[in-house]
Amino acid sequence: MLPTPTRESRAVDGLFIDGLRFSYGREFSLHVGSLRLAAGEQVLLAGPSGSGKSTLLHLVAGLDEPEAGSITIGGRDIIAVHGARRDRLRGQQIGMIFQTFNLLHGFTAVENVMMPLMMLGVAQDAMRQRAHDALRRLGIERPHADVDTLSVGQQQRVAVARATVTGPALVLADEPTASLDPEASAAAIAVIREACVTAGASLLVTSHDPTLRGEFERVIDVREFVTVGVHA
Ligand code: ADP
Ligand code: MG
Repeated sequence: MLPTPTRESRAVDGLFIDGLRFSYGREFSLHVGSLRLAAGEQVLLAGPSGSGKSTLLHLVAGLDEPEAGSITIGGRDIIAVHGARRDRLRGQQIGMIFQTFNLLHGFTAVENVMMPLMMLGVAQDAMRQRAHDALRRLGIERPHADVDTLSVGQQQRVAVARATVTGPALVLADEPTASLDPEASAAAIAVIREACVTAGASLLVTSHDPTLRGEFERVIDVREFVTVGVHA
């Protein structure tokens, strides 16, 4: 069995943002002077709807172009590379979890979890083994079931397995509890946090729900970075 890559022994930060500037025209601007997440650190990015949480997460994932700054994930600057090189860096260093999971419909749980490994060119056998291991750790007993036949809670576990199976330096979770009731929401956060510990990944999770604030040792309000906008 292949060992799951972990990064516990790594000296580099999970995430380091330096001098980041981004705006949507004159309506909305973000400036992050300096923000550091230690390897394995778990942080809640809070703020009401429309305050800029998703915008910051997209920038960290290298899905939007900032006007200035660097974003270093697991020691590598995602802004400094472009095109296919950036996609590859994202695939190696980042796992993403979305509110609506974004699973591939019509595919099995294990096929969904294999997808990010396929992008990295992992060999077939190793890929299958790692996907099955990740699903087993997350308590999915029917890895060959079509994801559409799984419960919402199980679908989210598949999404968590997919986000952590590559052993990323950083997991980004954008409003992962927004469509869940309070009880399911607490359970979902616990699953995500545990999977990140196992993978050795740092976690940056967003929520507009103030009740989550008490759960995290470190909470950052995105409004402290907003220099122009409704909340500035
Ligand atoms: P949150 O995730 O906290 O709800 P967003 O990051 O989605 O907030 O949005 C922050 C601000 O940026 C809002 O004012 C929103 O209207 C604006 N915004 C988001 N996406 C775009 C876009 N593609 N073009 C222009 N403005 C946008
Ligand atoms: Mg959002």
